[in-house]
Amino acid sequence: MATIGFIGVGNMGGPMACNLVKAGHQVKVFDLSAELVQTVVEQGAAKAASAIDAATDVEVLISMLPSGQIVEDLYLHETRLLDHLDTRTLVIDCSTIAPENAITVAKAARLKGITTLDAPVSGGVGGAKAGTLTFIVGGEKSAFEKAEPILRNMGKNVFHAGNHGAGQIAKICNNMLLAVHMIGTAEALQLGVDNGLDPAVLSQIMLQSSGRNWSLELYNPWPGVMPSVPSSNDYNGGFQVNLMNKDLGLALEAATKSHSATPMGALAKALFELHGSKGFGKKDFSSIQKLFAKE
Ligand code: NAD
Repeated sequence: MATIGFIGVGNMGGPMACNLVKAGHQVKVFDLSAELVQTVVEQGAAKAASAIDAATDVEVLISMLPSGQIVEDLYLHETRLLDHLDTRTLVIDCSTIAPENAITVAKAARLKGITTLDAPVSGGVGGAKAGTLTFIVGGEKSAFEKAEPILRNMGKNVFHAGNHGAGQIAKICNNMLLAVHMIGTAEALQLGVDNGLDPAVLSQIMLQSSGRNWSLELYNPWPGVMPSVPSSNDYNGGFQVNLMNKDLGLALEAATKSHSATPMGALAKALFELHGSKGFGKKDFSSIQKLFAKE
């Protein structure tokens, strides 16, 4: 069993840290929210007094934070964690950030003899709670092999995508596709309902037909069709519209750099931005269903 520091115990990080505790690791947690830290402490983690404290005397440091700027500030600028880390500590950043942020942190860490991995996840809050996340890892193979058993305590699929930043590229591609099929699912459900169909029946039909997709199968955006998903909880919890907008921005930035055509991604970004501007920024991204609702 390992000693692990965990920074950022929000919607995703909280349940991930709890699963590490359940697996028998000694986990120290830090978050700007004392309330969130307390929730994980109640599950058996230790409370760290600061980010530096969370990163001290641990074999592995995991971070799960909202943005690339926050990750860079933590490791390089404001908190300067890289100045405090032991070279034996393996850093695994699970946040979804631009590949450039991950590469910048990895290069600065390498200069100090510290090994990092970018390991963004897919699977949502449900996957974080159930320990069934997919980890998409970028970095050196030897570090990946060291991290894999620990990541398997929080997820059921662990992929090595390539070098630093590769995990982020794969994650960005996935989330652009997720945004597109969530919008398509919401649009199709509204069309069916507007024409007299029961959304639950229509969902069952499309699940056994060629429209089947992850949003429809595991994250139905129509309230009440599926229990225990954000749409049945007034779109609370889950993956915020603001975070989806961030990921779509990262996808479009990557597309500009690689001269890739991403018209569906661009449309998805425009729709999610419009939706966010209507006061849905902190709601789950499946609330895009509301964009199609008739007055
Ligand atoms: P969240 O906002 O619920 O959690 C982020 C946590 O980080 C918050 O509790 C916040 O207080 C904390 N934090 C921010 N700055 C900090 C700092 N400097 N030091 C310590 N703590 C700090 O977000 P989330 O939904 O858990 O998402 C986290 C990351 O996971 C994001 O990069 C997101 O894109 C990615 N992600 C989210 C989901 C999802 O379904 N929610 C799925 C896959 C990936």
